[in-house]
Amino acid sequence: MSATTALVVGDSASQAVRSAIRAAKACVGAGKIDLLLIGKGANSGAASASKWNGVSTVYYAEGETPCTAESATPVIRERVSAKDYRYVIATANSFGKNVLPRLAGVLGVSALSDIIEVVESNVFVRPIYAGNALATVKSNDEVKVLTVRPTAFEPIEDSSEGLAEIVKVQIPADGVQSRWLGQEATENTRPDLTTADVVIAGGRGLKNKDNFKMLEEMADELGGAVGATRAAVDSGFVPNDMQVGQTGKVVAPQLYIGIGLSGAIQHLAGMKDSKTIVAINKDADAPIFQIADYGLVADLFEAVPELLQKIKEL
Ligand code: FAD
Repeated sequence: MSATTALVVGDSASQAVRSAIRAAKACVGAGKIDLLLIGKGANSGAASASKWNGVSTVYYAEGETPCTAESATPVIRERVSAKDYRYVIATANSFGKNVLPRLAGVLGVSALSDIIEVVESNVFVRPIYAGNALATVKSNDEVKVLTVRPTAFEPIEDSSEGLAEIVKVQIPADGVQSRWLGQEATENTRPDLTTADVVIAGGRGLKNKDNFKMLEEMADELGGAVGATRAAVDSGFVPNDMQVGQTGKVVAPQLYIGIGLSGAIQHLAGMKDSKTIVAINKDADAPIFQIADYGLVADLFEAVPELLQKIKEL
């Protein structure tokens, strides 16, 4: 068996992939970590990722489009066969959730999803029951295929010791049954919700789409992202990529401000690890106050404009 090595895979050189590198370090200790970026923009991503601390080689498979699970899997599999990696690790985002279960199936191993802690080289902690319990799981698979929560691992910093080697690899042209046709992406100038330091989240109490503008304004003042509850998404106030919770995104910002949301257990599953939680709700018995560090019992339509004004005066 070769020395313990890990291959981190992703579709861009993002903060979330830096977090996956940190998780890989926890797995391999002093072992080697390589990175593989796949899809459109992989080439320029590889150039920035080559500066990251702890990365030995950056492989990239440039594509004309973002990759699909079907096109990415053979590329990763070929690297695993060539280099005999003990771990394949991705962020638990849409790329990792899409690609790694397929890879695990192809390799004939179990995929371990949503890892939040590496206890030992083969023992991991992952949340279950919407984050209400933590399972400690052991994997005896020769190749461990993991997705990790970016919020649980500090992004790796840049290296002061030169650049990693960059190597181009090919995406196989044949044998892929599905093809990427297009996407409708939401334009967003704010930080990514899952890695933002500040998240302002709104719920059904906002009443309509227009009132979310107050939250957007507050997010812009604080350099943060805007999130929402499923009730707000289902009511059509905001698009569903802003949903935080069990069936939405998991966030753990330095500051989370929940406005006009009750704090249902499925919402808490996505934000309860935030460092400082502030809640504004007119109902003093709303469950969000049980986990809030600071709570304001007030009508949001009075409190939020006032708070916004105070923030602008800072
Ligand atoms: P509500 O529970 O209706 O709360 C609105 C709050 O606004 C109330 O507390 C009210 O007091 C307050 N309010 C109203 N007006 C004002 C005002 N003027 N000023 C101040 N406060 C005011 N939910 C998620 O968020 N994320 C998920 O990922 C998710 N996944 C789910 C998965 C499953 C399988 C299921 C069954 C549910 C899921 N839900 C999820 C839904 C969840 O159970 C709740 O229904 C939802 O979170 C409630 O959203 P809310 O807090 O905005 O609405």
